[in-house]
Amino acid sequence: MHRLSYYYQQLSQPADETSSVRDQYDRDRHDERLHSLKRVCGWLALFYFTYTLVDIYLIPDVSMRSFALRFGLVGPSTLLLFAYFKRPVSIRRKELAAVCQGCLGALVWCMILISTQTPDVLNYYYAGLVFILVLTIVATPPFEQSLYGTLLVFAALYTTIWFLPGATMHYVLLHLSVGIPVTLLSLMANYRFSAESLRLYLEKLSVDQLRRELAQRNRELEKLSLIDPLTGLANRRALTNRISQLTDQAGAPSEMAVVIIDVDHFKAFNDFYGHSEGDNCLCAVAGAIRTACGTNDLICRYGGEEFLVLHITPFSPAANARALAESIRGRIDCLAMPHQPTQKGHVTVSVGVCSGLLSDASQLNTLIEHADEALYQAKRKGRNRVEESAYSILMTTQNLRAATCKE
Ligand code: GH3
Ligand code: MG
Ligand code: MG
Repeated sequence: MHRLSYYYQQLSQPADETSSVRDQYDRDRHDERLHSLKRVCGWLALFYFTYTLVDIYLIPDVSMRSFALRFGLVGPSTLLLFAYFKRPVSIRRKELAAVCQGCLGALVWCMILISTQTPDVLNYYYAGLVFILVLTIVATPPFEQSLYGTLLVFAALYTTIWFLPGATMHYVLLHLSVGIPVTLLSLMANYRFSAESLRLYLEKLSVDQLRRELAQRNRELEKLSLIDPLTGLANRRALTNRISQLTDQAGAPSEMAVVIIDVDHFKAFNDFYGHSEGDNCLCAVAGAIRTACGTNDLICRYGGEEFLVLHITPFSPAANARALAESIRGRIDCLAMPHQPTQKGHVTVSVGVCSGLLSDASQLNTLIEHADEALYQAKRKGRNRVEESAYSILMTTQNLRAATCKE
């Protein structure tokens, strides 16, 4: 078990630029602690004022004094205390005010008892230890407040005890034999309670901190899981996510185009230049595709040396996609990356394009299949070229027809 000083040291650490963990602790637990403080003070006030009847019964010679002091001094200060609870000050100040009120109640009680001549007061005086129990166990203020309040009440009790009628050394020792253990044990109980509530709070802070870090790590991992580590482009998983986002959006189906890019004779490139040069080549190709595409397009590494662009634009995607595909092919051609084993002597790509309406994920598969067919047509026709799928041409014609019918 850690000592209280350890927790206080933890609390004094800065939580942010302007406040310490202690301020945060006070802020976080303000409402809960105030609620319990109000309830305890309410019940104790009732208990304290009801004891006027006990004074009237046990020490009738000072009943007027008891009534006047309890209701004339402690009564108004209790009202002030409850008014203070409403003020926008820290909970520790409110708890301190409650401790001071408890000490005032104890001092007033001692003043009442020292003025009586009733011999029964010696037995009644044992009730003074209740104030110590209140300041330690019942109200459970923070330990340092409890300690100072208890020391004050203890000093008041054992100073005024000598003024009681019939008080002897023997009586004082008897009283102390009860008073000292009650004081020490109840202070220990308050110490343990204070340490435990600080420990729980600090533990909660570290759990919250861990939770935040975990959420942050999860967000980072989620990001990483959507990125191809070699080229930094989106991967197939990101593509699938984007498709479901698009198909979930209200107002679907939307018109879009799929552009598939495949590096020509890449196996030969790898065989000739080595795998690591092959990687560099893929990164350069990815960079060229990136510069050709717009911010709305999703570029994804679809396979080993295959890339896919999901071209989303509200204006004639078919025509745009064709232009985009040409731009990509041209840019890679212009890079003029040496590829000796081929006829051209530099790296080229073949591109397949297909556009159409996308209303669900399965339709995207259809677009991809047709773009893939177009790509192989480009390969068959000699590579380093763009081919558009007949399917997309058909779609555009249908769209045109639909538009004409509407007019
Ligand atoms: P084609 O013109 O018909 O597309 O021929 P190709 O050689 O490009 O196609 P093929 O499918 O035969 O070969 C693709 C090669 O791409 C085989 C594989 O080793 C290589 N490859 C796949 N992924 C990577 C990668 O991450 N890095 C490197 N360096 N090579 C890769
Ligand atoms: Mg290839
Ligand atoms: Mg391929």
